[in-house]
Amino acid sequence: MKLKYRLSLSFLVVVSLSAVITFVLVQRSTETVFRSFVFSGDSAKAKVYAGILGDYWQSKEKWDDVQPFLRELPNLVSEKIDTRLQVDQTVFRDLLADRVVVADQNGVIVADTTGVLTGTVHPYKHISHGIPVTVGGVREGTVLVGSMIDSALTGAAERYLLSITESILFATVISVCAALLLGILFTLRLTKPLASLARAAKKITSGDATDTVVIQGDDELAELAAAFNDMTTELKRLDAAKKQVIADSAHELRTPVTLIQGTIEGMIDGVFPMNAETLKSVHEETLRLSRLIDTLRELEIIESGELSFSREGIDLRETIRRALSLFSVASSQKAIDLEFASESETPSVAEGDYVRIGEVIYNLISNAIKYTPPDGKILVREESGTADFVSFSVEDSGPGIEQAERARIFGRFYRIDKSRSTESGGRGLGLAIASEIVKAHGGTITVSDSVLGGARFTVKIPRFGG
Ligand code: ADP
Repeated sequence: MKLKYRLSLSFLVVVSLSAVITFVLVQRSTETVFRSFVFSGDSAKAKVYAGILGDYWQSKEKWDDVQPFLRELPNLVSEKIDTRLQVDQTVFRDLLADRVVVADQNGVIVADTTGVLTGTVHPYKHISHGIPVTVGGVREGTVLVGSMIDSALTGAAERYLLSITESILFATVISVCAALLLGILFTLRLTKPLASLARAAKKITSGDATDTVVIQGDDELAELAAAFNDMTTELKRLDAAKKQVIADSAHELRTPVTLIQGTIEGMIDGVFPMNAETLKSVHEETLRLSRLIDTLRELEIIESGELSFSREGIDLRETIRRALSLFSVASSQKAIDLEFASESETPSVAEGDYVRIGEVIYNLISNAIKYTPPDGKILVREESGTADFVSFSVEDSGPGIEQAERARIFGRFYRIDKSRSTESGGRGLGLAIASEIVKAHGGTITVSDSVLGGARFTVKIPRFGG
């Protein structure tokens, strides 16, 4: 069953149940209060009779002849007025005008001023409204006066009570309707956005992440919709990035494959000689292709977190020096001044994978040599870092990197000057790998301007034990 029907039904059950309970309780208490109000006059009189009849029982110890005694009451009561009650004569006359019924312990009527009920068993319901006649703490009988004899109300009182009951019923029905209406509105307010979220989620399952969900307000549902929209945006971004990577990879792979294909076809057609030299160039292309595939695979496993790095203490100064020694020939061939400087007295110790951090340093120095013209300068600096991070930078006197390019150079296959970069063997993957390795270590890599005139790459890696 749908949530909106379930919620509406629950509301209906809860509201109806509480309405019925409220109605019954209010109606009952109203009726009780109303009846006791109506009987209050007669019960005051019955209390007077109870006192007199108590005296009667005390002297006789039985109810025989109480009927003629009731007839004698005017005289007896008259005495009470004089001696005990001291009330007005008119009140006394009113008292005698009433019909009086006396029942014994078993509820059998032993006296009725009209004589109608004498000898009958009076219903308990009516007896319970009467005033007990007690002698020495023992209930010997009950006296009922006027309206108490049968507790039915008069026509007017009954109509009045009915109109009160109708009003309570009317108020109950109105509140039930109002509560139900509010409940249904609340249910719709709750289920409508959920339905649109479900629709959008279904679309995503079928590959369409274009829908955004609009939910106004600042409640949990609006928060859910905002989180859902963020997720959709991220999915779209990831999808676009995935497509871009596939397109770029296909493009990059096509060049060596086309070259290999062309050379082999040339050999088949007799255009190229089928000798060791031609085969060597084909072999070189296959090696380049295989390196490219390896690099792409490496990038993918670093990015997906599949590659586990060791977390050891690395002497940063020693790692930089080792990388620098690998470039001494290449730098002197271009007459580039390759220098090292340190800002900290003791060597910084980074936490990470020695081989991978070495790869980052290697990539940055390699790029600096690649893009710095002859007679230039490269400075690799071990910086002082912070309490939590060690830091180093590689800067050069090369062409530098424009502000607009800085965010993109860490992406795959991104090359600022494609022709120059390809000439130098670059495929736009070196910085992407470096960035992924640094990120996997919990560090950062940024690019800025160097005082040497070119680019300055700064890397921060968590300090060992920091
Ligand atoms: P590539 O293999 O093409 O060098 P990278 O990912 O290492 O790819 O670098 C991306 C691009 O950033 C390069 O094509 C180059 O244009 C630019 N770049 C990288 N390092 C430097 C540098 N030190 N000076 C100037 N440009 C650089």
